Amino acid sequence: MSVRVVARIRPLLEKEHDKDVIVRADSVEHGKPFTMVKIPSPKNEAEEFSFAFNGVYDQSATQEQLFTAEVAPHIKALFQGLDVTLFAYGVTGTGKTHTMRGGLKLAERGVIPRLLSNVFRRGKKIAKDTNGETSVDVALSYYEIYNDKVFDLLEPPEKRTPSGLPLREKDGKTVVVGLSERACEDLKDFERLYIESNMNRVTAATKLNAHSSRSHAILRVKVTQTTGDVVRESTASAIDLAGSEDNRRTENGKERLVESAAINKSLFVLSQCIDAISRGDKRVPYRESKMTRILSLGQNSGITVMILNLAPLRSYHLDTLSSLNVSSRAKRI
Ligand code: ADP
Ligand code: MG
Repeated sequence: MSVRVVARIRPLLEKEHDKDVIVRADSVEHGKPFTMVKIPSPKNEAEEFSFAFNGVYDQSATQEQLFTAEVAPHIKALFQGLDVTLFAYGVTGTGKTHTMRGGLKLAERGVIPRLLSNVFRRGKKIAKDTNGETSVDVALSYYEIYNDKVFDLLEPPEKRTPSGLPLREKDGKTVVVGLSERACEDLKDFERLYIESNMNRVTAATKLNAHSSRSHAILRVKVTQTTGDVVRESTASAIDLAGSEDNRRTENGKERLVESAAINKSLFVLSQCIDAISRGDKRVPYRESKMTRILSLGQNSGITVMILNLAPLRSYHLDTLSSLNVSSRAKRI
């Protein structure tokens, strides 16, 4: 099991050019890559807190740089049969969706389309190198967890049942019962499916008068390599978590309170799991939310990369500190 925790600080948006910047990337030794995030204490401006990470990407880091450094190295392991989990954690507006999905332009593409593109390329190469003896199949599932209920994003929102899909443990892994899966041949295939499913996500959220940043979106890429009778299966999961802000401060409507309680609960359970694992506790409270059951952080033998997204602005000060606290503890796993 390996967990790598990295931070990414987003640039200022155009409308923010006059805003106060308080978060910066730093390194332990001058000239070395960034591994620290520094932020002033909210109580005493002169005091600065430092948080250590396995890597820190500042506003100048491109999508390609992040992918090349943090994701590409694990694709080989995926094809060797290890599961890879990539997740973006952070306050709404800090760049989680930008990091995971990204923009439409080639250079702006995020982790997910780049991952798929690499997987397809590697799959074709394996088939070619083995003269077709090994075949590589890629299948996708895409679902969201909203208010602790699981909904298939490959299906239109009309098909949803109010209680969502159940989970079950199978061979030591948590599976979503009844989740659909689509075979994908190439990047075009994937993009069509991904755009359509993201529309399902937005439509479903709009119906509930909610925003999609309040649900966790999980894309699961299953890679099956078949050589004669030997089948090797592994999965890469990319997760765009709901915003980690403290909704108690920002929301007052009743419906929102129920909703934010569920969001806060799963993220709260996630932080408790991280604490328990980093302390070496025997009891880790995975089972207390669907998201943590699925994520099974620290339980599987695969590779996990946690990307903490940060906005450098003062207006995010307390939420930024709390997400820095959670993720810097994850580094001790
Ligand atoms: P989140 O999903 O965490 O709520 P978004 O990904 O929607 O945040 O990002 C908020 C805004 O910031 C969007 O307009 C997005 O395009 C922009 N943004 C985030 N990260 C970057 C980045 N690294 N470079 C350029 N723009 C970014
Ligand atoms: Mg988002």
